[in-house]
Parts: sequence; structure tokens; C-alpha cells
Amino acid sequence: MEMVTSELELLRLFRDIDRADVELSPDLIFPLALDETLAWAVGPRAFLLFRERPDRPARGIVFHRNAGTVPDVAAMCEWCHAVRGHGGVKLLSVSVDARRRVGLYLCSDLSCVSRSNEVPGPDDLPEGLDGAQRAARTLERISRFASRRLF
Ligand SMILES: [Zn+2]
Repeated sequence: MEMVTSELELLRLFRDIDRADVELSPDLIFPLALDETLAWAVGPRAFLLFRERPDRPARGIVFHRNAGTVPDVAAMCEWCHAVRGHGGVKLLSVSVDARRRVGLYLCSDLSCVSRSNEVPGPDDLPEGLDGAQRAARTLERISRFASRRLF
């Protein structure tokens, strides 16, 4: 568990390129206890703080949610592999640098890790993993994406 004591400290966990886009949600109260992940969304953006391992510092990513109307087809989240319709899984984009962005289909509220203890829905792929295994695997995918593309 890591404690983030102030807004300034939280902002420092984000990359320079993202920092100006970070917006706090009113239910984030300092000091903030940070477990494996913490996600929130404000308007067109969603924010994720994650820690690859308990001994590593947290890192933050800003996601831009596609505001365009998407056909209501169920899609699979690339991180937790949940299958959701009604906009539950959306194309989210992240700035790689000043010119390039990368898009991913993800749970639009980024609740991938926090929801991994829930019973998989009827549309999800049966994988035979328990909640802790799903959470660990999702966190590994998040970390891999972040180290390859962003940090
Ligand atoms: Zn997900």
C-alpha cells in the first residue's frame, strides 16, 4: 500500500505529456491509499494509477475516451478480456509522444483489476482462473503495455 498525500504528489506520478490533462474526481480524498490500481473518469478522460509490483512506485496514464457514437456491439477488453456491450468496452487512446497516440479497446471505466474478483459474465471467455489470478494477469498486461509504449 502506498500513500499519496497530496494532489501535487499524485500529479508527479503521471508523465509530463499527460500532466496537464489530469483531472481529479471529487471522491478522491487525500491521503489516498494506493493498492494495485486506482481508476477514475472525468468527462472525456479516464485515469489509471497502477503499480507493477508492490515494491515499485505507482505510475499514471491518461486515457482519452472516444466520444463518437459506436455501434452497440459487445467488445472484448484487451487487458482483462471481459466482454461488454453498451459502451462498457470502448476505444481509449493514450499519447505516446507529442505526435503519436495509441488506441486500445478497454473497459471504459478502467475497472479491469478492481473487478477481477467478480464472477465472470456469461459473455466472458471461460478461462478457469480465480479472481487473484485474473487480477495478476491483467496487471501484467497493463505493465507490459506501459513499459513497451509509454515509459
Ligand atoms: Zn477490462
